[in-house]
Amino acid sequence: KAGRNTYRIFSEDIRSSITESLHLISSLRQAVAQEEFVLHYQPVLDLRTGALIGAEALVRWQNPKLGMVSPGLFIALAEKSGLIVDIGQWVLNEACRQMQAWRTMGAGPLFVSVNLSPVQFSRGNIEAVIAHALQTTGLDHGQLELEVTESTLIADTEKFIVTLSRIQASGIRLAIDDFGTGYSNLSYLQRFPVHKLKIDQSFVRRLLQGEKDVAMVSAIIHLAHSLGLKVTAEGVENEATSEALRGMGCDQGQGYLYARPMPADDFEAYWRARA
Ligand code: C2E
Ligand code: CA
Ligand code: CA
Ligand code: CA
Repeated sequence: KAGRNTYRIFSEDIRSSITESLHLISSLRQAVAQEEFVLHYQPVLDLRTGALIGAEALVRWQNPKLGMVSPGLFIALAEKSGLIVDIGQWVLNEACRQMQAWRTMGAGPLFVSVNLSPVQFSRGNIEAVIAHALQTTGLDHGQLELEVTESTLIADTEKFIVTLSRIQASGIRLAIDDFGTGYSNLSYLQRFPVHKLKIDQSFVRRLLQGEKDVAMVSAIIHLAHSLGLKVTAEGVENEATSEALRGMGCDQGQGYLYARPMPADDFEAYWRARA
């Protein structure tokens, strides 16, 4: 009954979604030019002592019309269009600048974690961008941590291993983000100079629900420790989970239980209150 009409409606839908994403890409391009981005910072705590040890920098897009846009809504598009190279460069510069400013205000040598997209490795001159961010801001190399996902490491060309090794040799730390959700072949852990594994939220959230998740998390923690790596649990939302993680020997925690990602001013008040 709907025959041709269905086809027409369907094609209208596709057309409007294409128009929508083209529109979004052009807004994003403008956002890059006009620096409409801000960083929020989420505290990372030492699970044993409860001390604040660092923060993950998380980008938000503050659009005059759309309001605050979360990265889940624009990172994929930014990657497809290549705009992530410029956005990522801005994020690195801003995160380093901010952390160095806090350092000179009396914050301890907290680390700042920056998320890197695989596209920044394949299309951007990532080493030069990182070096520039550290040089112009004066941030200590040891205070910068870079988060890459397993899928970034799977595309392991010789060149890529050399790049990451040089980055690590300069004192910058590398963390594997969303660990456990990517690939079952873990051989890359031996090839890459990794410092830390971040256990994906999906395991952490289910931790109190089933034995299998306990086994997974516990296995990841043991794997990390036996390779000399640190472990961070992400997405810790309640005290019982935090307690369980501590009991399993997990080093660091991040999640709504401790604090949500917050604007720079709030994070400054946060570290001052804890200093
Ligand atoms: P991610 O790197 O896995 O970051 C953690 C996400 O989990 C953040 O979402 C954070 O707000 C959220 N989160 C933290 N604690 C909790 C918790 O206890 N419960 C729950 N339910 N969620 C929690 P956000 O800020 O929306 O970022 C989403 C993703 O966008 C990030 O996931 C990351 O993959 C990407 N992203 C964010 N900033 C950047 C960036 O500067 N560059 C790139 N390439 N990607 C970014
Ligand atoms: Ca991350
Ligand atoms: Ca993550
Ligand atoms: Ca994620």
